[in-house]
Amino acid sequence: MTEKKAPILAIERHRIATDGRGVTTLVGFWGCPLRCKYCINPHSFSEKTKPLLLTPEELYARTVIDQIYFLASGGGVTFGGGEPLLYPQFLKAFREQCGEAWHLTAETSLAVPWESVELAASCIDEFWIDCKDTNDAIYTRYTGKSNRQMLENLARLTTLVPPERIVVRLPLIPDYNTAADVEKSQEMLSALGITRFDRFSYRTKK
Ligand code: SF4
Repeated sequence: MTEKKAPILAIERHRIATDGRGVTTLVGFWGCPLRCKYCINPHSFSEKTKPLLLTPEELYARTVIDQIYFLASGGGVTFGGGEPLLYPQFLKAFREQCGEAWHLTAETSLAVPWESVELAASCIDEFWIDCKDTNDAIYTRYTGKSNRQMLENLARLTTLVPPERIVVRLPLIPDYNTAADVEKSQEMLSALGITRFDRFSYRTKK
């Protein structure tokens, strides 16, 4: 699949204080490189899902109807998923459509090639990074993939964008990590110059 069109799962309008600053429209992409044990959104990577294929121009046409709210509130579009950084050229083309005034946010695992992160850094205002845990054994057990790529990307991203544009999410994951593990992750990432952390606990059915 080329990035001329990207697979979109959902477009949710008029979100306030849930996906970054101001009024936002959440755009969910299909596709994810991870397989988290407590994933609440498995249809975001299921082969059975039938996403909507849109060009950046078509997505812009569906989001520009809320421009007045974005400009008045300092908001814009938040890209989530799934994994939006699977489609960095699409994000870049969308920025060219919407101009600089919209605040664009990406919710990402950073579990993608560096070139994708680098391209996204040229067009995204704010990154919400789903780190999970800096301990590779915990991360691998929980996501099915090593965290090495995510950590290398995160370290390199801090050299490209200022700390106020990065928020790292550090969840307490029942049966996978502990409060002490979360603390260790925060200490390690603080040493990279990261200052904004979102700490919370996953709720499981237990
Ligand atoms: S990164 Fe998100 S969408 Fe992907 S498997 Fe994990 S929880 Fe699910």
